[in-house]
Amino acid sequence: MELINPRTFLVVANLLGMLCALVLWVQARSFPDDIEGLRDWALAVLLIGWAAGLASMRNILPDAVSIIAANGMLLFGQFLLVIGLQRYCGRKPFWRPTLDAIGAVLIVLAWLTYGSHSYQGRIFIMALAHIGFFSFGALLAWQAAPKGFSNRFLTVVFLLGVAVAIWRVVTLSAAVDAADEIFDYDLIQQVYLGMFSLGILGLSIGFIMLANERLRVELEFMATRDPMTSALNRRAFFSRAAIEWARGVRSHRPLAVITSDIDFFKKVNDTHGHHIGDLVIKDYANRSAQMLRLPDIFARFGGEEFVVLLPETGLDEAKQVAERIRQEIEMHREKALPPYTVSLGVAVAQGNPGQAADIEALIAEADAALYRAKQRGRNRVEI
Ligand code: GH3
Ligand code: MG
Ligand code: MG
Repeated sequence: MELINPRTFLVVANLLGMLCALVLWVQARSFPDDIEGLRDWALAVLLIGWAAGLASMRNILPDAVSIIAANGMLLFGQFLLVIGLQRYCGRKPFWRPTLDAIGAVLIVLAWLTYGSHSYQGRIFIMALAHIGFFSFGALLAWQAAPKGFSNRFLTVVFLLGVAVAIWRVVTLSAAVDAADEIFDYDLIQQVYLGMFSLGILGLSIGFIMLANERLRVELEFMATRDPMTSALNRRAFFSRAAIEWARGVRSHRPLAVITSDIDFFKKVNDTHGHHIGDLVIKDYANRSAQMLRLPDIFARFGGEEFVVLLPETGLDEAKQVAERIRQEIEMHREKALPPYTVSLGVAVAQGNPGQAADIEALIAEADAALYRAKQRGRNRVEI
């Protein structure tokens, strides 16, 4: 039964391949360099689309073009999908063994075309190659970050490709009226060819969504974090603090703030240099952040000054946290760095007598406590 003329299928795939390649290529140009693989994918869908285009010219162009060259482009295109995903996942792509295998497959294909005239054999060996590439593609897509709808979508498209190729192999012996070759009108052959165009479209959309999602995550990270320590920046701190403040007011739960400042930090810079100073700041950010819980909001406010907001935390508990940070910094010094200490100020709002009016006032209270800690000799916690 003829659903759609197979040539039409293949020509559509050819056009879709070029369109998708264009979109992928434009994206590749505008995306930051650390999001890799888009260029490989642009070339991949272009090749796969052109493989379909050449295949649509069966019996018009010589077999060497419409069979051998077309299948070669198809295999190399599918291989590039895998290469691109490997790069996207930050892995080193492996070229050699697969390229050798593709070469071997093409030699066998040539023999099956000119030697044994085995349509069945050609379908079989190509379907096996598809299963291999798509399975690997599915695995890589599954592992690709960020996890979410896009990477699952891409995984499913690859798995559908695997399923169709397996179906093709399983129904192979029953299928043929070999004379018809590519233009036999079995349902499976139609699905198999349909996989070209829908596959190109589905995979391109999936990968574009995935790369966009990663871009969004990266931009959000850059917009909200201090690049040196990865702590939140001031603006991100206040936008999250406003939410916690409103929640605390509504639920009458306490809310604590700890401000901290490294002691005699100018001396660290003066004696050991700015670079070591930077390392000390990073070390402090890492180690103090480790003392916190998940809902705690940790931000860098300036040079070596950090602020922590602790939701649903009362005075005693907040003081303990501050004291833990102070001790951790004093006791477990990083061997490669000069020893240093830190002073901390703690303030708590909600259900507390000297209630602060807003988050800025609360931070000002904690800062006042920090100032007292400095005055009273440093390396201490004040409330
Ligand atoms: P105190 O104990 O009173 O806090 O003394 P201090 O020397 O630490 O004084 P202060 O906190 O005012 O010093 C901050 C210094 O931190 C000033 C500045 O040169 C330095 N600084 C600010 N940002 C950075 C940075 O990103 N890297 C480095 N290495 N130094 C910084
Ligand atoms: Mg200081
Ligand atoms: Mg300071």
